[in-house]
Amino acid sequence: MPSLPDGALSTKGRRRALDALGSGELDLIVIGGGITGAGAALDAAARGLNVGLVEARDLASGTSSASSKLIHGGLRYLEMGDIGLVREALRERELLLTRLAPHLVAPVPFLWPLRRRGWERAYIGAGLVLYDTIGGARSVPRHRHLSRRGALAVAPALRHDALCGALQFHDAAEDDARMVAIVARTAAARGAYIATRTRVAGFRRTEGRVTGVNAVDEETGEELVLRARHVATAAGVWTDELRALAGGASSWRVVPSKGIHIFVAADRIPMETGVLARTEKSVLFIIPWGGGWLIGDTDTQWSSAPDEPVATRADIDYVLAKANALLAAPLSREDIHGVTVGLRPLLAGGAASDTTRISRRDVVESPAPGLTTIAGGKYTTYRVMAARLVDAAARALGASNPSVTEDVPLLGAAGLLAARRGRDAFAARAGVSAAAIDALIDRYGDRVQELVALLEARPELAEPLDGARQHLRAEVVYACTHEGALRLEDVLARRTRLALTAPDRGLAAADQTAALMAETLGWSAARTQAEVETWGAMIAAQRAGEAEPDDAAALAAFGATLADRRQAEGGLASAEKRGTRLS
Ligand code: FAD
Repeated sequence: MPSLPDGALSTKGRRRALDALGSGELDLIVIGGGITGAGAALDAAARGLNVGLVEARDLASGTSSASSKLIHGGLRYLEMGDIGLVREALRERELLLTRLAPHLVAPVPFLWPLRRRGWERAYIGAGLVLYDTIGGARSVPRHRHLSRRGALAVAPALRHDALCGALQFHDAAEDDARMVAIVARTAAARGAYIATRTRVAGFRRTEGRVTGVNAVDEETGEELVLRARHVATAAGVWTDELRALAGGASSWRVVPSKGIHIFVAADRIPMETGVLARTEKSVLFIIPWGGGWLIGDTDTQWSSAPDEPVATRADIDYVLAKANALLAAPLSREDIHGVTVGLRPLLAGGAASDTTRISRRDVVESPAPGLTTIAGGKYTTYRVMAARLVDAAARALGASNPSVTEDVPLLGAAGLLAARRGRDAFAARAGVSAAAIDALIDRYGDRVQELVALLEARPELAEPLDGARQHLRAEVVYACTHEGALRLEDVLARRTRLALTAPDRGLAAADQTAALMAETLGWSAARTQAEVETWGAMIAAQRAGEAEPDDAAALAAFGATLADRRQAEGGLASAEKRGTRLS
């Protein structure tokens, strides 16, 4: 299978992927381009299988862009008695931090404030001793006990009366959406075919076995027949829907649990550490992330369709109230930049359960001959989940090659140290500051060389993006030529994280980003304008939802705000399709 050494996810690469998926020569089709599906495509390609991945929307457009962005063992799962899960997650954390993704995953200090004297310190301290012993202290410092004064020295933003002491420990964080794109690129570099905006609409069977899928190319509206010797789903909260489409059966069902985060500027919370605090039902995280603070989350059952979960006023008020119980200078709604909303793909066996108590374990099944599914799990353990899914698919295919991803660094990792050493030379070649190169290395690892080559060829792209000075214009072009971005939303929400981190959620950057994408992807003027208008409508719809008290009202407000836009878009898409057919 020919591979792309740089794993570039371009429109040409997508066309090639669709041709390969239609050829009937693949061993495996993976459905779902979240972290689990991207991980499965990498696992399969690395062990020598011919694999293609289809994603209905964009890479990481589901849950995998809305997590707490922690690569962690999960202290609270220890409390639930899930030591095996925590141990496995800590092993993965270690691998990612040290070998597989040191350019994407970084250690983060956390403070656990203690509210009561006596038993609480002993209880949490014992939990952290266990955490450190089963892997929590590998590659990061061991936990330590702090007095109130010691805690307030590292976290002066906390209220004096919010704690009587604290424990400090370390976990790790990453950019969840960017990491999915890098895993998918690493898969492509190993020969996997990646096709985004390709929605599976049905399954094909030959003599009772699943042998492919019917899909829709969401870029052209074309109906596609994609074939392979085996099909696997890694569809998160869409798992039940796909299983039903395939006519398969299972004793498990997905119970989606909604979680939201808010983002506030760095200077609103002056401290040098993250915070993890217990709430009545779950925990609150205040995480130093993306140049500011990511604060969450919530855990409530979601009973509507999984495509567009929305945050409500109640969700945001809850997070603000929990944070303000700890912070000396309270946050208000005006401090909030962006909000993320995600659905945890939790699995339940019997009747409805309390989502805060459901285990984060994953389940691999074969609900129909020729079809393997995976559901549940956590972002942190994506690599071992992917290996379990591909093990089952490989068994069904009669292949015995084992998973090798433990020894496959993600793209950008291999030459990280050399890239850091070469920063001054890169800066000179690219005509930007050494600090700008550092920022690029933090986002792209050794792939910084591809951006430097682009900047040498097109020096005008070294300017910062309007309304988002932390990003160079070159990054928008690169997102289209190497990271699979096809829509304005893909760049504003997931390749950059402006939808979350910019105070205006990327509105000021939208025009220029769309113009750069238009010249790279060949958009018409009408398409470019439509992309900008859709982004504006999307942000307005999110804000409309966030003003409503509950899920039903927020969904109604969200949908109503987007309705006109969607109608206009439908008209434009069919006009462009007619144009394509005529030309
Ligand atoms: P998804 O990312 O949802 O991917 C499924 C994909 O399938 C989607 O992109 C979807 O578009 C695609 N798809 C669906 N139907 C079709 C179709 N018909 N055709 C083609 N494609 C289709 N885990 C951690 O380890 N650390 C954390 O800090 C953490 N925090 C979390 C916080 C919150 C609020 C939430 C909600 C989850 C958190 N998790 C965390 C869990 C973690 O985010 C998820 O387990 C993980 O992202 C799920 O990834 P996935 O690939 O299985 O699903």
